[in-house]
Amino acid sequence: MDLLKAENVQDVSIVIDETEFNKIKDYTAACYPREVSALLFGIFLNCKGFIREIIIVPNLSRSQNQFQISTENKEKAVLKANHPYFGVYHSHINDTEPSQNDINEMKKLRNIWLIGSLNKNQNKITVFKLNAYCHNNNKLFNLKLEGNHANNADTIA
Ligand SMILES: [Zn+2]
Repeated sequence: MDLLKAENVQDVSIVIDETEFNKIKDYTAACYPREVSALLFGIFLNCKGFIREIIIVPNLSRSQNQFQISTENKEKAVLKANHPYFGVYHSHINDTEPSQNDINEMKKLRNIWLIGSLNKNQNKITVFKLNAYCHNNNKLFNLKLEGNHANNADTIA
């Protein structure tokens, strides 16, 4: 993927529009507390990765805090998508920090990872948080997220 050619991965940002942001937020909330997974499709231009399409795929893991996407479901999604394969989304229950498992997979897949989480804030309002990561040259990067939504966090009514 083009990202690996970027000299300064820390300068890379990921752009997600409100429609796609809301799609994963709503799906994550609907399945909570189960971890959910989805595949990301988009294009990469001038140090910016634009997420154009998100296709939800079943999380086949039986464990509540892990996710697993089958090769078959991935292939189906890739055929259905109108944009190149870009990366993967999954949710956590409490935070958007990648687990050790996530980091190991990131090293293998070398693509963009979005991790979302649902949390209750001080006012007991549920907040959805989203972070973008990639692993390059043995380092984990927390990429800047851009888009038409406040601070990559949103409350759920
Ligand atoms: Zn994870």
